[in-house]
Amino acid sequence: MGGQEIGEILKILNKKYKIKAEKERPFEVLVHGILSTRTKDETTFAAQYRLLKLANIPKKLSKLDVRTIQKTIYPVSFYKTKSKLLKKAAEMLLADFNGNVPSSKEQLLKLPGVGPKVASLVQVWGFGMPSIPVDTHVNRISQRLGIVPKNNKPENTQIVLESILKPAQRMIANHVLVTFGQGICRPIAPQCYRCPIYSYCKFEKKEYYKNRIAQ
Ligand code: SF4
Repeated sequence: MGGQEIGEILKILNKKYKIKAEKERPFEVLVHGILSTRTKDETTFAAQYRLLKLANIPKKLSKLDVRTIQKTIYPVSFYKTKSKLLKKAAEMLLADFNGNVPSSKEQLLKLPGVGPKVASLVQVWGFGMPSIPVDTHVNRISQRLGIVPKNNKPENTQIVLESILKPAQRMIANHVLVTFGQGICRPIAPQCYRCPIYSYCKFEKKEYYKNRIAQ
């Protein structure tokens, strides 16, 4: 599948979702990213809100003790580990980056709790850089559409998508595909019967799911 077709897919999906590229505070995106791994969105956003109310800058977060962070972010997955990572990340921001979140991938990846997906999230949402964070939704949909092979690793999917899409498309790709993955192209029982990009899809079971009655 080429760039033109993927561009058409994004255009069709975004006609439905109307997502715009928006910028948030990089520190908030960083906190969100660290909290979000293997955690449902609603749990992540609620924990992020509680934590940022206590500590909205790295200096304040670095001063919280780990038990307080744990209590504040519970019930996110791995809340004990993530509490330590958040505190260490805040300490590193103060020690090595003058209290600011860096924008380069290389520097972001040095922060505790930050892998390629979180680094990419901070770049696109925090700094408006055309990066595509590849989470489970983006990777699954890219495979079903036939953009990348089955079982492709997220970091390889990111390389493929970023090499194909134009900067403006890269700015919204994650948000559009995640919204599509949560609503229609779900991990289990995708709702192919109401999929607006059905004709583009290479998923071998799409006909089966198209004929299934909505649960
Ligand atoms: S046809 Fe089904 S599997 Fe393919 S993109 Fe649409 S919802 Fe996903």
